[in-house]
Amino acid sequence: MAALSPVEALRLLHERVVRPLGFKFSPDEDLVQFLLEQELLLEARHGMPYCPCQPIRGSRARDMRIVCPCIPFHRKHYDAMRRCWCGLFVHEDVTDPDSLPQLTEEELGLA
Ligand code: SF4
Repeated sequence: MAALSPVEALRLLHERVVRPLGFKFSPDEDLVQFLLEQELLLEARHGMPYCPCQPIRGSRARDMRIVCPCIPFHRKHYDAMRRCWCGLFVHEDVTDPDSLPQLTEEELGLA
């Protein structure tokens, strides 16, 4: 069997974490590929596959909450949106990820 590419290996690791949480990769394959490549760049630069859509602040406690997949740290928020902040992951039953807006906790009345 051929060795997995770095993107494929990261994808497999993420899959194992998010599936039990009721999430899957977005059906938007271009977006998934782009975000995973960005995570690999962030991992090479900072040692962790940080979220490509959220700023690294230099506080370890805060930054650990944006290591992908960050769903366990933001469960209520992402369950309400049915997607994670970047849109890399969506709820299992989502077929049209473009229909899911990116809303803040404040906009959802969660803050
Ligand atoms: S918002 Fe999505 S892509 Fe970003 S770290 Fe969280 S789970 Fe990963």
